[in-house]
Amino acid sequence: MNLPIVPGTVWLVGAGPGDPDLLTRKAEKLICAASIIFYDALVGCGVLDLIPSHVKRVPVGKRSGRHSKDQRSINQMLVDAAKSGERVVRLKGGDPAIFGRASEEMDELAAHDIVFQICPGITAASAAAASANKSLTLRGLARKLIFVTAHAKSGEPLDLDWQSLADPGATLAVYMGKSSAETVSKSLIAAGMAKGTPAVLVENASLENERIFHSRIDLLPLAAKTALGNGPAIMLIGSAMERDQGRLLMGEREVTEV
Ligand code: SAH
Repeated sequence: MNLPIVPGTVWLVGAGPGDPDLLTRKAEKLICAASIIFYDALVGCGVLDLIPSHVKRVPVGKRSGRHSKDQRSINQMLVDAAKSGERVVRLKGGDPAIFGRASEEMDELAAHDIVFQICPGITAASAAAASANKSLTLRGLARKLIFVTAHAKSGEPLDLDWQSLADPGATLAVYMGKSSAETVSKSLIAAGMAKGTPAVLVENASLENERIFHSRIDLLPLAAKTALGNGPAIMLIGSAMERDQGRLLMGEREVTEV
């Protein structure tokens, strides 16, 4: 059964990491109930295939270096579509509320008294950890999970609090970090993170061309440069990413299930 969308309103919908099977049922219902869908470059082809043929599709993708709509034009397009009575879905990769610029779009919609709602999605960090058979948290060892973006505005240095990121009790999920891998590695080590801290890089998580690399924080730049291709990639850093934690995690799961 379709979820109705009130004409003139907007749903910000998480498309997940790419695999259409990782879409929520709600997201799929909304995709089918829309009259127009604005989607990002990171929305998987398999997800786009679920859009019924009568629904208008508008790519507004933003991938670094390629032509794309600027955020202001996207905001305006959403407002215009809602004002003309469309049932609007704004489809974003992963979770719309994680590094998805959802707040800019919501602010603009609110400024025009347009009603909007969010449908969450599976974020890249969760998908990447699942692909690598890792738990993002680890009882007693990784009690914190930090989502951080290593994307710097062009020409500006990365302005991050490296001291707090170098926390040995945390797992870092570094989004948009491929081109800053060297800065991330050097800055974390300079802030006291052990050189041998495990790091897992996952490119195209959940997709057929997914690739997983096990590395260490000091080798991160090399791994990012030599191993990764053009797809989106995420870095997971911290003791929870240790290569041989498989059995330990199985044990832990059993304990919590009892
Ligand atoms: N809202 C998205 C994140 C958008 S920022 C989410 O919740 O996942 C874009 C960054 O997300 C990419 O540069 C990359 O670091 C990460 N990313 C998105 N999809 C990915 C995928 N399938 N595999 C690996 N990383 C991904």
